[in-house]
Amino acid sequence: MSSEKSYSSSWIEENKERFIKISDRIWELAELGLIELKSSKLLADELRENGFTVELGVAGMPTAFVATWGKGRPVIGIMGEYDALPGLSQKKTSAKAPLVSGKPGHACGHNIHGTSGMAATLALKKTMEKCGVEGTIRFFGCPAEENFSGKVFMVRDGYFNDLDAAISHHPGSMNAATLKSTLAVNSAKFHFYGRAAHAGGSPDQGRSALDAVELMNVGVNFLREHVIQDARIHYTIEKGGEQPNIVPSYARSWYYVRAPERDQLQFIYDWVVDIAKGAAMMTRTELKHEFMGGLYNVIPNRTISELIAGNMRVIGTPEYSDEELKFAKEIAKSIPTDMKIEQLRKSTRPGWEKLIDKLIDDEAPDPWREGEVSHGSTDVGDVSWQTPTVEFSTATCVLGTPGHSWQFVAQSGVGLGHKSLIFAAKVMAATAIDLFLNENLLDKAKREYKKRVEGKEYTSPIPPETKPPLDIWNRSA
Ligand SMILES: [Zn+2]
Repeated sequence: MSSEKSYSSSWIEENKERFIKISDRIWELAELGLIELKSSKLLADELRENGFTVELGVAGMPTAFVATWGKGRPVIGIMGEYDALPGLSQKKTSAKAPLVSGKPGHACGHNIHGTSGMAATLALKKTMEKCGVEGTIRFFGCPAEENFSGKVFMVRDGYFNDLDAAISHHPGSMNAATLKSTLAVNSAKFHFYGRAAHAGGSPDQGRSALDAVELMNVGVNFLREHVIQDARIHYTIEKGGEQPNIVPSYARSWYYVRAPERDQLQFIYDWVVDIAKGAAMMTRTELKHEFMGGLYNVIPNRTISELIAGNMRVIGTPEYSDEELKFAKEIAKSIPTDMKIEQLRKSTRPGWEKLIDKLIDDEAPDPWREGEVSHGSTDVGDVSWQTPTVEFSTATCVLGTPGHSWQFVAQSGVGLGHKSLIFAAKVMAATAIDLFLNENLLDKAKREYKKRVEGKEYTSPIPPETKPPLDIWNRSA
């Protein structure tokens, strides 16, 4: 390991209790997207107190911020998230038990996401000062990844324009910097307005908005046969009326449409909107179509992914105490083996069969999944269209842990999560050091990025006049 990387790793190790405390505090706060006021402040204050210039409330979101230190090129970005998920509150126990029933929980480990990035950012400043490394380091505090995709607004407003590369860490069940892409997505609400009437006495007078919602869903369900295999269409009915003896005058559905490329997505999305219009015509109701937001697919980067995998191996994956292993074994009992096997198979990791009997991933394999698409979506995708970008994962959870689950919440707040956080911070700092110090590597990453986006264009999926939906948690049904 180079002296710069040894220095940053030791510095993170010496200061780890401070970072674990911050991560645990964000875990306890479990604030929802766009209202992560205390969580974002914790991270922003820490960076400001350590000499960073912090711009808080960027891109129209009070909980979005950019912290900068250094001067000149290269400019390396590190991203952090800190939003929780609704209804997933959970204690730090190996059995399902909400901490506060019905409240949010960190079921995607974003308490670690934000803190690992911040710890790496602070370590980079210390290392650059100590070792005389030139360049600028920028930490992006990114709100609302889970619902309103804060990064897309930050990208649209130009905050990622001058980066040479960007790195992000996400808690997971594997140590992995893969080359997979994700699905582009559009999110929209369909409001139908009809006419109320007595459903028994005078239904002929009524025009049912719920009929329109149902007919739209039927139409879309028939559409499924005629879209590409990798597409995904899903919906909920948010509002379906009041009670059976009133013809519903208002009903609303919420749709996500996903596909590997934006043009494929647009084709399907336009068809879904046409079906909604057809449903309104069939029921003589009125349609209001509310576009909620969209995301691009992820552009992977092999050059940076290989650096990350290499740094993981040099730094060494975490070792666990007896107490941590005991907790891991207990929590693993709640995960059915068939579910674990399916998750491992789906990961397509070379030799995944060998992981079936393993509790925690303790390897750091070379990047894989080139040309594959995972069927989720992330706003890291939009950043990856601006600059060479990699989001890697470290093992926060036992193998087989489902995403967005109570098991994920529990593990993100205990020793397993803490070790993952510190390991990830060291890996991120080391990878940024590689990019700061080795111009050839950075050029290689940039050439690769240019090749991957060649002939394609990024246009923000969000219209210029659209503002982040800051009032979302106060809106009445
Ligand atoms: Zn997440």
